[in-house]
Amino acid sequence: MTVETEKLTDEQWLRYSRHLLLPQFDQSHQLKLQHTTVFVYGAGGLGSPLLMYLAARGVKNFIINVFDTVEISNLQRQIIHNQQSIGLNKAQSAKQTIENLNSDINVTCVEQKLDETQLTHFVKDCDLVLVGTDNFESRYLINKVCTQTKVAQISAAALGFEGQLFVMDPNTQSSPCYQCLYPDANEEITCSQAGVLSPVVGVLGTMQALSAIKFLTKIGDSQIGKLQLFDALSGQWRIINVKKRENCVTCSK
Ligand SMILES: [Zn+2]
Repeated sequence: MTVETEKLTDEQWLRYSRHLLLPQFDQSHQLKLQHTTVFVYGAGGLGSPLLMYLAARGVKNFIINVFDTVEISNLQRQIIHNQQSIGLNKAQSAKQTIENLNSDINVTCVEQKLDETQLTHFVKDCDLVLVGTDNFESRYLINKVCTQTKVAQISAAALGFEGQLFVMDPNTQSSPCYQCLYPDANEEITCSQAGVLSPVVGVLGTMQALSAIKFLTKIGDSQIGKLQLFDALSGQWRIINVKKRENCVTCSK
């Protein structure tokens, strides 16, 4: 059944009624999300609200790639997991939570670290890639695969009292990629080293979900190429226009 001939069921009208009341969303937007596949890298502090809001919103297919397990020190901010999930792979734990939220969704858990070929296999048919990891090596690899397969990505990060969000789309000619933003980052400072205030990751993960819904349904300004910076202490957001680098090793011709 295609989006053109498909209709929402009565239960779906009820479930999504608060969205369908918004003038910007109609049945076609809801049906579009029900034919959407997202690749989510990480199911931690950012991935928690991200996955829960996208599942609640009616995004249909999820591929969750995480290779670590839930630990007690995660529970301060990774609210998709609970005490019973300690020791469980995070993709499996996240799957349990979001399937309880919405049984209409499909979740594929990928529990191992993927190389470029394997990552390409999963990403190439996705509508959007969502990245929330503090590992630059993985971010560069995902960026390379997204650039080659022409799949858009939304990256989020948070540390201490600060966070950032960056939307990239290789199908938009002027769009920078992640390596245009950070050409040769190598030193990672992680939450386990520097700490993070839990609602800060919540704000950024929620913004990532919001940007994903806007991008997938094509409503509003998707803010491609704009680096959005949040400082929780001042309560301020700043937006920086990031230009595509002519000599970028990943996206320049
Ligand atoms: Zn680039």
